[in-house]
Amino acid sequence: MKIVVCVKQVPDSAATVTVENGQVVWGDAPLVINPWDEYAVEAALKLTEEHGGDVVALSMGGEDEKEAVKHALAMGSSEAILVSDPALKGIDAGGTAKVLAAAVQKIGDADMVIFGRQSIDSDSGLMASQVARILGWPSLTLVAAIDALNVDDKQTRVERNTEEGRQVIESRLPAVLSITKDFGEPRYPSFMGIRKASRAEVPVWSVAELGIAAPEAVISWPEVMNPPTREVTTEIISGGSPQEIAETLAEKIIAEKVL
Ligand SMILES: Cc1cc2nc3c(=O)[nH]c(=O)nc-3n(C[C@H](O)[C@H](O)[C@H](O)COP(=O)(O)OP(=O)(O)OC[C@H]3O[C@@H](n4cnc5c(N)ncnc54)[C@H](O)[C@@H]3O)c2cc1C
Repeated sequence: MKIVVCVKQVPDSAATVTVENGQVVWGDAPLVINPWDEYAVEAALKLTEEHGGDVVALSMGGEDEKEAVKHALAMGSSEAILVSDPALKGIDAGGTAKVLAAAVQKIGDADMVIFGRQSIDSDSGLMASQVARILGWPSLTLVAAIDALNVDDKQTRVERNTEEGRQVIESRLPAVLSITKDFGEPRYPSFMGIRKASRAEVPVWSVAELGIAAPEAVISWPEVMNPPTREVTTEIISGGSPQEIAETLAEKIIAEKVL
């Protein structure tokens, strides 16, 4: 089977992300693979280990933004592709979905496209459903487990995580999935994997090579703001015993009408 796994580069979650002059900035912090996408890569690798086949890591981003696909290669993906084009500057979520869907079609013969549940910078969580709509394939979001997969009959049964519990869904393939943490902890790249990834030449596809016109953004972010600052005071409660401290705490909570 062939699985395309979509990975995005985001500022390191340890970076201090802030807003300057209406723009998001994160200093010198490196761009890394979106943490949710490591789960997507893990899921794709597990499925191909069980059922055979290849994992192709796909990303859309700046020309030098190969860290995410290289991380996927180091984890064990067989191939990596970056879509990059100056015409994609300022692209919105709908446009990103058109580009990724066209790239999936150019890769060809995919049985599944797997996404992380959301990006940690823009956080829309829209990409899997939008790509599924463009491809005309089933959209299976927030998948926590795959209970059955029959590549020859092109059928799968998955469990979705919902607020109410687990939902079991049967679907035909090819399908587009987004993956939650429950699928299993992502593996660390092996030493051999890191060497392979560092030497790999990642093909860079332009929009013209995808056979589409550069999508026009219909949504723009004219300004981004820091959240309003909150006044917070901290008080450490001391006392002669845990009971005394708890009593003082309870009195203060009641006085503040928290309870
Ligand atoms: C500084 C900045 C400025 C922006 N300006 C605008 C703007 O003006 N207008 C606007 O509409 N949007 C803007 N965006 C949002 C940007 O276009 C989104 O990153 C993009 O639309 C994808 O949405 P998302 O990140 O919320 O993805 P989600 O839907 O949250 O991501 C889900 C999954 O989709 C996959 N995925 C997402 N993006 C990619 C990608 N590029 N390549 C491969 N896989 C991917 C990953 O598997 C990810 O886990 C801006 C973002 C930033 C950081």
